[in-house]
Amino acid sequence: MLSNEKITNYAAPLDLLADRVILVTGAGDGIGRAVARACAAHGATVLLAGRTIAKLEDTYDAIAAAGGCDAIICPIDIEGATSDDFQQFNADIESQFGHLDGLVNNAGILGQRTPLSHYKTDVWERVIKTNLSAQFELTQALMPSLQASSTGASIIFTSSGVGRKGRAFWGAYAVSKFAVEGLVQTWAAEVEGMGALRINAINPGATRTQMRATAYPAENPETLKTATDITPAYLYLLGDDSLGINGQSLDAQAAKK
Ligand code: NAP
Repeated sequence: MLSNEKITNYAAPLDLLADRVILVTGAGDGIGRAVARACAAHGATVLLAGRTIAKLEDTYDAIAAAGGCDAIICPIDIEGATSDDFQQFNADIESQFGHLDGLVNNAGILGQRTPLSHYKTDVWERVIKTNLSAQFELTQALMPSLQASSTGASIIFTSSGVGRKGRAFWGAYAVSKFAVEGLVQTWAAEVEGMGALRINAINPGATRTQMRATAYPAENPETLKTATDITPAYLYLLGDDSLGINGQSLDAQAAKK
Protein backbone atom coordinates (compact mmCIF):
# COMPACT_ATOMS: atom_id res chain seq x y z
CA MET A 1 0.00 0.00 0.00
CA LEU A 2 1.31 3.42 -1.00
CA SER A 3 1.89 5.65 2.01
CA ASN A 4 0.28 9.06 1.97
CA GLU A 5 3.45 10.54 3.45
CA LYS A 6 5.49 9.32 0.49
CA ILE A 7 3.30 11.34 -1.83
CA THR A 8 2.75 14.52 0.16
CA ASN A 9 6.45 14.79 1.04
CA TYR A 10 7.66 13.77 -2.40
CA ALA A 11 10.84 15.63 -3.35
CA ALA A 12 10.87 15.68 -7.12
CA PRO A 13 14.22 15.75 -8.91
CA LEU A 14 14.53 18.94 -10.97
CA ASP A 15 14.71 16.99 -14.23
CA LEU A 16 11.75 14.72 -13.34
CA LEU A 17 9.73 15.74 -16.38
CA ALA A 18 12.51 16.65 -18.82
CA ASP A 19 11.49 16.14 -22.46
CA ARG A 20 7.91 15.38 -21.45
CA VAL A 21 4.78 17.05 -22.74
CA ILE A 22 2.13 17.55 -20.06
CA LEU A 23 -1.36 19.00 -20.55
CA VAL A 24 -3.06 20.69 -17.59
CA THR A 25 -6.69 21.82 -17.80
CA GLY A 26 -7.75 24.85 -15.80
CA ALA A 27 -4.14 26.03 -15.93
CA GLY A 28 -5.02 29.70 -15.54
CA ASP A 29 -5.99 29.65 -11.89
CA GLY A 30 -5.83 27.83 -8.57
CA ILE A 31 -4.44 24.33 -8.43
CA GLY A 32 -4.07 23.99 -12.22
CA ARG A 33 -1.88 27.07 -12.39
CA ALA A 34 0.36 25.79 -9.58
CA VAL A 35 0.61 22.31 -11.14
CA ALA A 36 1.47 23.79 -14.54
CA ARG A 37 4.20 25.92 -12.96
CA ALA A 38 5.59 22.95 -11.03
CA CYS A 39 5.66 20.81 -14.19
CA ALA A 40 7.53 23.53 -16.08
CA ALA A 41 9.96 23.95 -13.19
CA HIS A 42 10.71 20.22 -13.46
CA GLY A 43 11.51 20.31 -17.14
CA ALA A 44 8.21 19.69 -18.92
CA THR A 45 6.75 21.40 -21.92
CA VAL A 46 3.38 22.36 -20.50
CA LEU A 47 0.21 22.77 -22.53
CA LEU A 48 -1.85 25.34 -20.64
CA ALA A 49 -5.51 24.54 -21.32
CA GLY A 50 -8.34 26.72 -20.07
CA ARG A 51 -11.12 29.07 -21.03
CA THR A 52 -9.86 32.51 -19.94
CA ILE A 53 -6.95 33.48 -22.17
CA ALA A 54 -5.77 36.36 -19.96
CA LYS A 55 -5.34 33.94 -17.04
CA LEU A 56 -3.47 31.43 -19.21
CA GLU A 57 -1.19 34.26 -20.38
CA ASP A 58 -0.52 35.10 -16.76
CA THR A 59 0.50 31.50 -16.03
CA TYR A 60 2.63 31.53 -19.17
CA ASP A 61 4.38 34.71 -18.03
CA ALA A 62 5.01 33.24 -14.57
CA ILE A 63 6.59 30.14 -16.13
CA ALA A 64 8.75 32.25 -18.43
CA ALA A 65 9.82 34.55 -15.57
CA ALA A 66 10.90 31.53 -13.53
CA GLY A 67 13.02 30.33 -16.44
CA GLY A 68 10.86 27.27 -16.97
CA CYS A 69 10.77 25.19 -20.10
CA ASP A 70 8.31 25.74 -22.89
CA ALA A 71 4.66 26.45 -22.29
CA ILE A 72 1.95 26.71 -24.90
CA ILE A 73 -1.42 28.35 -24.42
CA CYS A 74 -4.30 26.11 -25.56
CA PRO A 75 -7.63 27.92 -25.22
CA ILE A 76 -10.51 25.51 -24.73
CA ASP A 77 -13.84 25.67 -22.92
CA ILE A 78 -14.25 22.01 -21.99
CA GLU A 79 -17.93 22.52 -21.16
CA GLY A 80 -18.79 23.87 -24.61
CA ALA A 81 -16.31 21.80 -26.63
CA THR A 82 -17.66 19.27 -29.11
CA SER A 83 -16.16 15.88 -29.82
CA ASP A 84 -14.71 17.41 -33.02
CA ASP A 85 -12.94 20.05 -30.87
CA PHE A 86 -11.44 17.35 -28.65
CA GLN A 87 -10.36 15.32 -31.70
CA GLN A 88 -8.75 18.45 -33.17
CA PHE A 89 -6.92 18.98 -29.89
CA ASN A 90 -5.44 15.51 -30.21
CA ALA A 91 -4.56 16.07 -33.88
CA ASP A 92 -2.74 19.31 -32.99
CA ILE A 93 -0.73 17.55 -30.26
CA GLU A 94 0.10 14.65 -32.58
CA SER A 95 1.29 16.96 -35.35
CA GLN A 96 3.33 19.21 -33.03
CA PHE A 97 4.80 16.69 -30.57
CA GLY A 98 3.80 13.19 -31.67
CA HIS A 99 3.00 12.20 -28.09
CA LEU A 100 1.56 13.33 -24.76
CA ASP A 101 3.21 12.13 -21.53
CA GLY A 102 0.82 13.48 -18.93
CA LEU A 103 -2.76 14.73 -18.69
CA VAL A 104 -4.00 16.53 -15.58
CA ASN A 105 -7.81 16.76 -15.70
CA ASN A 106 -8.06 19.57 -13.17
CA ALA A 107 -10.61 22.10 -14.48
CA GLY A 108 -13.85 22.06 -12.54
CA ILE A 109 -16.76 24.13 -11.31
CA LEU A 110 -18.56 24.16 -7.99
CA GLY A 111 -22.18 24.63 -9.00
CA GLN A 112 -24.74 25.41 -6.31
CA ARG A 113 -24.38 24.76 -2.57
CA THR A 114 -28.03 24.01 -1.96
CA PRO A 115 -30.34 21.11 -1.07
CA LEU A 116 -30.91 18.69 -3.95
CA SER A 117 -34.63 19.38 -3.71
CA HIS A 118 -33.89 22.94 -4.89
CA TYR A 119 -31.01 22.19 -7.24
CA LYS A 120 -31.44 23.77 -10.67
CA THR A 121 -31.38 21.31 -13.58
CA ASP A 122 -29.33 23.58 -15.83
CA VAL A 123 -26.65 23.97 -13.14
CA TRP A 124 -26.70 20.21 -12.57
CA GLU A 125 -26.05 19.61 -16.27
CA ARG A 126 -23.23 22.16 -16.44
CA VAL A 127 -21.44 20.67 -13.43
CA ILE A 128 -21.74 17.08 -14.66
CA LYS A 129 -20.58 18.13 -18.13
CA THR A 130 -17.56 20.11 -16.89
CA ASN A 131 -16.44 17.90 -14.01
CA LEU A 132 -17.13 14.52 -15.59
CA SER A 133 -18.33 14.12 -19.18
CA ALA A 134 -15.96 16.64 -20.77
CA GLN A 135 -13.02 15.08 -18.92
CA PHE A 136 -14.00 11.64 -20.17
CA GLU A 137 -14.36 12.95 -23.75
CA LEU A 138 -11.07 14.87 -23.64
CA THR A 139 -9.18 11.89 -22.24
CA GLN A 140 -10.73 9.51 -24.78
CA ALA A 141 -9.82 11.86 -27.65
CA LEU A 142 -6.24 12.27 -26.40
CA MET A 143 -5.67 8.52 -25.96
CA PRO A 144 -3.75 8.12 -29.27
CA SER A 145 -1.24 10.80 -28.17
CA LEU A 146 -1.06 9.36 -24.65
CA GLN A 147 -0.47 5.85 -25.96
CA ALA A 148 2.35 7.19 -28.14
CA SER A 149 4.34 8.28 -25.04
CA SER A 150 7.63 6.41 -24.85
CA THR A 151 7.78 6.91 -21.07
CA GLY A 152 4.28 5.65 -20.31
CA ALA A 153 1.71 8.40 -19.94
CA SER A 154 0.18 9.35 -16.60
CA ILE A 155 -3.46 10.48 -16.53
CA ILE A 156 -4.74 12.26 -13.43
CA PHE A 157 -8.36 13.03 -12.64
CA THR A 158 -9.34 15.34 -9.79
CA SER A 159 -11.53 14.02 -7.03
CA SER A 160 -12.61 15.51 -3.72
CA GLY A 161 -13.46 14.49 -0.17
CA VAL A 162 -17.14 14.88 -1.12
CA GLY A 163 -16.59 12.35 -3.92
CA ARG A 164 -15.76 9.66 -1.37
CA LYS A 165 -18.37 10.31 1.31
CA GLY A 166 -21.62 12.09 0.55
CA ARG A 167 -22.14 15.46 2.24
CA ALA A 168 -25.29 17.57 2.39
CA PHE A 169 -25.67 20.53 0.02
CA TRP A 170 -22.81 19.60 -2.32
CA GLY A 171 -25.23 18.52 -5.05
CA ALA A 172 -23.94 17.85 -8.56
CA TYR A 173 -20.36 18.63 -7.54
CA ALA A 174 -20.27 15.71 -5.09
CA VAL A 175 -22.03 13.43 -7.55
CA SER A 176 -19.56 14.37 -10.31
CA LYS A 177 -16.61 13.57 -8.04
CA PHE A 178 -18.08 10.20 -7.02
CA ALA A 179 -18.41 9.48 -10.73
CA VAL A 180 -14.80 10.54 -11.34
CA GLU A 181 -13.70 7.97 -8.75
CA GLY A 182 -15.70 5.31 -10.61
CA LEU A 183 -14.38 6.43 -13.98
CA VAL A 184 -10.80 6.11 -12.75
CA GLN A 185 -11.35 2.63 -11.31
CA THR A 186 -13.09 1.41 -14.46
CA TRP A 187 -10.60 2.87 -16.92
CA ALA A 188 -7.59 1.87 -14.86
CA ALA A 189 -8.82 -1.74 -14.80
CA GLU A 190 -9.09 -1.65 -18.59
CA VAL A 191 -5.48 -0.47 -19.08
CA GLU A 192 -3.97 -2.59 -16.29
CA GLY A 193 -1.07 -4.64 -17.64
CA MET A 194 -1.11 -2.80 -20.98
CA GLY A 195 2.26 -1.04 -20.71
CA ALA A 196 3.14 1.87 -18.47
CA LEU A 197 0.02 3.98 -19.07
CA ARG A 198 -1.64 4.67 -15.74
CA ILE A 199 -4.81 6.40 -14.59
CA ASN A 200 -5.26 7.72 -11.06
CA ALA A 201 -7.22 10.29 -9.08
CA ILE A 202 -6.01 12.96 -6.70
CA ASN A 203 -8.05 14.51 -3.93
CA PRO A 204 -6.38 17.92 -3.42
CA GLY A 205 -7.88 18.42 0.06
CA ALA A 206 -8.80 21.88 1.36
CA THR A 207 -6.68 24.26 -0.72
CA ARG A 208 -6.51 28.06 -0.83
CA THR A 209 -8.19 28.86 -4.17
CA GLN A 210 -11.12 30.85 -5.50
CA MET A 211 -13.31 27.74 -5.58
CA ARG A 212 -12.62 26.99 -1.92
CA ALA A 213 -13.30 30.61 -0.95
CA THR A 214 -16.65 30.46 -2.77
CA ALA A 215 -17.58 27.20 -1.04
CA TYR A 216 -16.49 28.41 2.43
CA PRO A 217 -16.84 32.23 2.47
CA ALA A 218 -16.39 32.48 6.25
CA GLU A 219 -13.14 30.49 6.33
CA ASN A 220 -9.80 32.18 6.90
CA PRO A 221 -7.77 31.25 3.77
CA GLU A 222 -4.52 31.64 5.71
CA THR A 223 -5.36 28.40 7.55
CA LEU A 224 -5.26 26.42 4.28
CA LYS A 225 -2.46 24.88 2.24
CA THR A 226 -1.68 26.83 -0.90
CA ALA A 227 -2.00 25.29 -4.35
CA THR A 228 1.80 25.26 -4.58
CA ASP A 229 2.02 23.29 -1.30
CA ILE A 230 0.10 20.37 -2.80
CA THR A 231 2.02 20.02 -6.09
CA PRO A 232 4.36 17.21 -4.85
CA ALA A 233 1.53 14.68 -5.18
CA TYR A 234 0.94 15.70 -8.79
CA LEU A 235 4.65 15.54 -9.61
CA TYR A 236 4.84 12.11 -8.00
CA LEU A 237 2.05 10.77 -10.19
CA LEU A 238 3.41 12.40 -13.36
CA GLY A 239 6.99 11.13 -13.04
CA ASP A 240 8.63 7.72 -13.21
CA ASP A 241 8.43 7.11 -9.44
CA SER A 242 4.75 6.28 -9.87
CA LEU A 243 5.23 3.73 -12.64
CA GLY A 244 2.97 0.78 -11.78
CA ILE A 245 0.58 2.90 -9.67
CA ASN A 246 -2.78 2.54 -11.41
CA GLY A 247 -6.40 2.93 -10.34
CA GLN A 248 -5.59 4.67 -7.04
CA SER A 249 -7.26 7.68 -5.47
CA LEU A 250 -4.55 9.56 -3.61
CA ASP A 251 -4.61 12.46 -1.19
CA ALA A 252 -2.44 15.47 -1.98
CA GLN A 253 -2.38 16.49 1.70
CA ALA A 254 -1.41 14.56 4.78
CA ALA A 255 -4.34 13.64 7.01
CA LYS A 256 -4.79 16.06 9.93
CA LYS A 257 -3.68 14.50 13.21
P1 NAP B 1 -10.47 27.26 -9.27
O1 NAP B 1 -9.47 28.12 -8.61
O2 NAP B 1 -11.88 27.71 -9.39
O3 NAP B 1 -9.90 26.88 -10.71
C1 NAP B 1 -10.67 26.10 -11.58
C2 NAP B 1 -10.05 26.17 -12.94
O4 NAP B 1 -10.89 25.42 -13.85
C3 NAP B 1 -9.97 27.60 -13.48
O5 NAP B 1 -8.76 27.77 -14.16
C4 NAP B 1 -11.13 27.64 -14.46
O6 NAP B 1 -10.97 28.56 -15.51
C5 NAP B 1 -11.11 26.22 -15.00
N1 NAP B 1 -12.36 25.89 -15.67
C6 NAP B 1 -13.61 25.86 -15.14
N2 NAP B 1 -14.50 25.56 -16.09
C7 NAP B 1 -13.81 25.39 -17.24
C8 NAP B 1 -14.18 25.09 -18.57
N3 NAP B 1 -15.46 24.92 -18.94
N4 NAP B 1 -13.21 24.98 -19.50
C9 NAP B 1 -11.92 25.16 -19.17
N5 NAP B 1 -11.49 25.47 -17.93
C10 NAP B 1 -12.45 25.58 -16.98
O7 NAP B 1 -10.56 25.84 -8.55
P2 NAP B 1 -9.46 24.95 -7.80
O8 NAP B 1 -9.75 25.02 -6.37
O9 NAP B 1 -8.11 25.25 -8.31
O10 NAP B 1 -9.93 23.50 -8.28
C11 NAP B 1 -9.19 22.70 -9.19
C12 NAP B 1 -9.72 21.29 -9.10
O11 NAP B 1 -9.53 20.78 -7.77
C13 NAP B 1 -11.22 21.17 -9.36
O12 NAP B 1 -11.49 19.99 -10.09
C14 NAP B 1 -11.83 21.08 -7.98
O13 NAP B 1 -13.07 20.43 -7.99
C15 NAP B 1 -10.76 20.30 -7.25
N6 NAP B 1 -10.75 20.44 -5.79
C16 NAP B 1 -10.41 21.61 -5.20
C17 NAP B 1 -10.36 21.70 -3.81
C18 NAP B 1 -9.98 22.97 -3.09
O14 NAP B 1 -10.05 23.01 -1.84
N7 NAP B 1 -9.59 24.03 -3.79
C19 NAP B 1 -10.66 20.57 -3.03
C20 NAP B 1 -11.02 19.38 -3.66
C21 NAP B 1 -11.04 19.33 -5.06
P3 NAP B 1 -11.41 30.11 -15.32
O15 NAP B 1 -10.54 30.65 -14.22
O16 NAP B 1 -11.14 30.69 -16.64
O17 NAP B 1 -12.85 30.09 -14.93
